[in-house]
Amino acid sequence: MDCGEGAQRSFVKFGLGLNKEMLILITHLHGDHVNGLLGLLQTMSMSQRIRALTIVAPSELFGWLKATMEVFHIGLTFDVSLVPVRSGVVFRGKDFRIRAARANHSVDAWSFVFEELPRPGVFDLNRAKALGIPEGKKWSSLQRGRHVVVAGVRIHPSQVLGPARPGRSVGYSGDTRPTKGLTRFFSGVELLIFDSTFAAKDADRAVERKHSTSSEAALLAREAGAKRLALTHFSARYKRTDGLLRESQKIFPETVAARDGLVLDVPAAQ
Ligand SMILES: [Zn+2]
Ligand SMILES: [Zn+2]
Repeated sequence: MDCGEGAQRSFVKFGLGLNKEMLILITHLHGDHVNGLLGLLQTMSMSQRIRALTIVAPSELFGWLKATMEVFHIGLTFDVSLVPVRSGVVFRGKDFRIRAARANHSVDAWSFVFEELPRPGVFDLNRAKALGIPEGKKWSSLQRGRHVVVAGVRIHPSQVLGPARPGRSVGYSGDTRPTKGLTRFFSGVELLIFDSTFAAKDADRAVERKHSTSSEAALLAREAGAKRLALTHFSARYKRTDGLLRESQKIFPETVAARDGLVLDVPAAQ
């Protein structure tokens, strides 16, 4: 999600792998969100990436990308499909989908939610054994939601599976003012990564530059029923982020301040 300067260095440094299934989502066309894109694509190509890659972004990006690659004679070792961002589902994966909604920034800007599709319920080993279902193929059929026949008796998956588990979701605001629309869009996400450019005392600047304060991020997270909040995009004017973090935690205790290389577990939704 977004591709600022140095994205390719971080990718290599944190061992994320350049030939993985991947999707690049660009929220808006400000340099700090796209400057790293060309470098990342080139680095992938140099490491002989072969998997196709999808980029979802405001469509103006694509003209620039094609022209720049032509001028610099950049050829890629993999296919790139370009998807212009719009409201609603912008990408469907095997077990997840990506939705987009309009943000409110100084240029055309978007927010994204990564949504895991609901997963089948937990398989009850003891019930399966009690029903005399032999371990192996029949177990995996049931786990995938298909009925099986054991000694002439038809067994339905619901007899051995718990209720379907909701998928997890992660929201990412990009640069934005807090809005009612985004509060709805991020409803119930397990993790919300939100613009926290300014501290509360600089609220007027946040309005002027179309960003958010850490308190505004916290209020939105609380109202949206998010489980956890990661503040990001801090203004360089603050030497430390502790102040912004504290402001947010007063309103929404489950807040962390994002930093390069931070790893957060997103537990399964209950
Ligand atoms: Zn911006
Ligand atoms: Zn920015």
